[in-house]
Amino acid sequence: MRRELFALVFFAAPLVGQQGPNPKAMKAARAIVAADLMRDVGFLASDELMGRATPSPGLDAAGAYISRRLKQLGIKPMGDSGSYLQHYTIVRATLDTAQTSVSFGAQRLGWGNDFLIQSFLAPGAREGRVVYVGTGIRAPKRGLDPYAGLDLRGKWVLVHASQIRPRNVTTDSLGVVGLDYTTVLDEARTRGALGLLLIPSAANLVGWNAMRARVPVGRDLDPSVGRAYAPYPLPQVLLSSSAITRLLEGEQLSSASVLSADSLRQYPKPVELGATKTLKVEFSASVTRLQPFNVVGLVEGSDPRLRNEWITVSTHLDGAVGRGTTASGDSIFNAADDNGTGSAGNMSIARALMAGPRPRRSVLLVWDSGEETGLWGSRFLAYGPLADTVVAHFTVDMIGRTKAPGSSVAGEEELSGPGEVFVSGPGVLSTVLDSALARVSRDYNFIHFDRRFEDPKHEFFYPRTDAAPYIERGIAYVEFFTGLHADYHRQTDEVSKLDPVKFEAVTRTVYATLWTVADGLARPRIDKPVPPVLWFMTPR
Ligand SMILES: [Zn+2]
Repeated sequence: MRRELFALVFFAAPLVGQQGPNPKAMKAARAIVAADLMRDVGFLASDELMGRATPSPGLDAAGAYISRRLKQLGIKPMGDSGSYLQHYTIVRATLDTAQTSVSFGAQRLGWGNDFLIQSFLAPGAREGRVVYVGTGIRAPKRGLDPYAGLDLRGKWVLVHASQIRPRNVTTDSLGVVGLDYTTVLDEARTRGALGLLLIPSAANLVGWNAMRARVPVGRDLDPSVGRAYAPYPLPQVLLSSSAITRLLEGEQLSSASVLSADSLRQYPKPVELGATKTLKVEFSASVTRLQPFNVVGLVEGSDPRLRNEWITVSTHLDGAVGRGTTASGDSIFNAADDNGTGSAGNMSIARALMAGPRPRRSVLLVWDSGEETGLWGSRFLAYGPLADTVVAHFTVDMIGRTKAPGSSVAGEEELSGPGEVFVSGPGVLSTVLDSALARVSRDYNFIHFDRRFEDPKHEFFYPRTDAAPYIERGIAYVEFFTGLHADYHRQTDEVSKLDPVKFEAVTRTVYATLWTVADGLARPRIDKPVPPVLWFMTPR
């Protein structure tokens, strides 16, 4: 309570004699126009760039386009060796299925029929005893602890792949994951297990052949940093029913009770298998290292002291590139709204910052990559040295779509209407950012703020974007988003579907908010109680 009060009082000071918009910032905001935005998104989301996968020639072309613009504007390069490109490393391991094996005792299982690899990150052999833990859900308040008396260190965890709960447990009664209960993913990792051996669910058996047709690929940022969106570090091996039967031969744990557990919702007691069942998995894979990039530039603040407090405005430049062709023959995932709009918007914001009055704090402009594949670029940046001086973070991801008034199109339930944008973060976490939003809404008023997602219980409150690694590091954030639509992550996410009027209004608003926060005397910070849904956050 005290910290909140302090922040309010502190913020009140600069407001005196400073009512209304800053006229020069207003002028710079109004110079952000739809024609520029549509030209830039038109290039970024053109078929020529093929959806800007990370990495790809299309992403390279997008990076070069933005770098040229930043250079023309005189923005300070913050990338490698005087450039705007900040490279990071991704390790990609492609499984050699024929050479990958599972063995125990005299048994040697074959990939495809006896087992599949659900996930892995690196080649190598892993050998250890096997511990069965049922569903693997641990909820001490509910009296559930399948790990009691068992040691997982250096062992394989045999666990049901289904999300089915034991008969007397409902998902709601478990509470919040990470807080009231944990899953096998958390427990196996923290208890030092080798990996998971998954007992197939009914869905796994139905989808077995489809899964078998895909060659498993493991990819991650190197070194792997961040918690919320880092891939699960332990390998997961899906066993067939016959492999389970062979594994449990001669054990007190019967394969019949294990294989019927899901349908009965009754799971046998956790137990460690005998020493003869020491199990070895040899992952064979070819490994390549990739070097994608973020585009980064700094607009230095005007205040000699406050310029060392940076605000990031981050937009992911990459698109989610999928496979498949539409009925009309379109196979290119243009990623216009997601996130050609944010990326183009950030270019106009860069120009407004250089043309308008310089705010007191510095602004780090970021076009990151690998967002769609695991927040690679923002994890790298948020855990790197550039983030040490960051005090607030803006995420701009999908800002160009509008629901027609009265529309009831399926898939548009979470799409904003004309003249409104979803804004979230500050209402739950930060008094200073919240006050800035109120001020922008009153003084600049380009668009209405819909704050419905500012509820920790809402699925869109949980940051499914580049904001997550920054929150992890205790940095206050604000997110702008016009909402989901039926073209999200599809070939049909195209420029022709955008609403230029709204796109312009949102971009002007992001600039006005950025300017207001960067120029305000109060330092933005997280000063409200952190809701449990942000379990991964480490307060500063
Ligand atoms: Zn996105």
